[in-house]
Amino acid sequence: MNYAQQLWQTLSHSLNPYCAFCSEQRLPNYPLCEHCHADLPWLLPEQNVPLPGCINSLSAFAYQPPISNLLLSIKFGKNLREIATLGELTATGIFAQLTTSPEAILPVPLHTARLHKRGFNQALELARPLAKQLNIPLLNHAITRSKFTLPQTELDSSQRQRNIHAAFQLQSPLTYQHIAIFDDVITTGSTARELASLLIAQGIEQVDVWSCARAVLRQKHELTPQIDYH
Ligand SMILES: [Zn+2]
Repeated sequence: MNYAQQLWQTLSHSLNPYCAFCSEQRLPNYPLCEHCHADLPWLLPEQNVPLPGCINSLSAFAYQPPISNLLLSIKFGKNLREIATLGELTATGIFAQLTTSPEAILPVPLHTARLHKRGFNQALELARPLAKQLNIPLLNHAITRSKFTLPQTELDSSQRQRNIHAAFQLQSPLTYQHIAIFDDVITTGSTARELASLLIAQGIEQVDVWSCARAVLRQKHELTPQIDYH
């Protein structure tokens, strides 16, 4: 997709008055209608339990349809409208439960070979609205993924741990005290924990892990985040 096509897709997204999921009118400055917003699998505060190692974790959604379908669709084809929609929804879910803002967001890096094949890092693209609204940097080049790992989804928990061990390398010193790692999906959390341990070893005092979705059993949700009509 060339620049003009990307620009057109982004513009048509902001000008389109309809909900991204149905044919209803969307809410002002928000990609969905009220009904579709309320129907999403928003993660409850009590489901945002820390990852092993007492790492604070904050995810917007349970990994369930339509979020899981949208994440898969994004992974296998760069659709700017879908990425922008999911990025905005993720920001809404994270902000609804956020107490302290980090100083920077670190999207989980892709290995260069995978990045070239896919053409983009979905964690980076989804984190853009979060960084923009918090007005903090996205650390896209601070850490690289030097080890070509098997997709974590094909492995069990202990295999995932071994697969991801020593996969990341620091490229430049980080002077922050508080960083949020961002991934598209958290399952066992082994990728995020490996990255967190690297940051903690650099002296970063607080490392949180954020994601669009987390694999959990869905409970009946009673809380729907209030939309900030920015
Ligand atoms: Zn709708």
